[in-house]
Amino acid sequence: MTQNIFYRDFDVPTDLKFKTVDIVHMGGLRCSCLLTDRQTEGMLEAPNRITQAKVELSFTLAAADILVRGTIHGKRYVECARCLTFTEQPFREEFTETYSHKTEIIDIMYLVRQALALSEEIRFLCRPDCKGLCPMCGQNLNEAACNCKPEIFSPFAALKGKFK
Ligand SMILES: [Zn+2]
Ligand SMILES: [Zn+2]
Repeated sequence: MTQNIFYRDFDVPTDLKFKTVDIVHMGGLRCSCLLTDRQTEGMLEAPNRITQAKVELSFTLAAADILVRGTIHGKRYVECARCLTFTEQPFREEFTETYSHKTEIIDIMYLVRQALALSEEIRFLCRPDCKGLCPMCGQNLNEAACNCKPEIFSPFAALKGKFK
């Protein structure tokens, strides 16, 4: 394949909006770039945030279309859905889209945001077997056990305590 040459010197637009004519002129393009904090700001729902992100792109020309394949990977600082502590975790999302040659601008940032929004629907866990917080005293059960007894939840147990 002669298409899809890696243009080392290609200046990736900082807003990740590529001009279709440029890509057609080059006969396709492969490029990558690191995203700045400012670019990744707000990509994850607060208080989660991306701490490091790299985008890798490949534009392939077909008869009337441009096929875009991309990957965003890096690290994100996310809150565990069970124990509410923050951990930095690696992530990797892929996206694919087809554009007509008539499309003026290919907005990669939009694809990146979409891919990340989908990934956010999965609950983050600090580890697969996270024990979470004690619902009574709030102790992080990964760090230590607490002395709460689950039967306190029962209304009869509460009464028992009163008549002691
Ligand atoms: Zn956790
Ligand atoms: Zn407890």
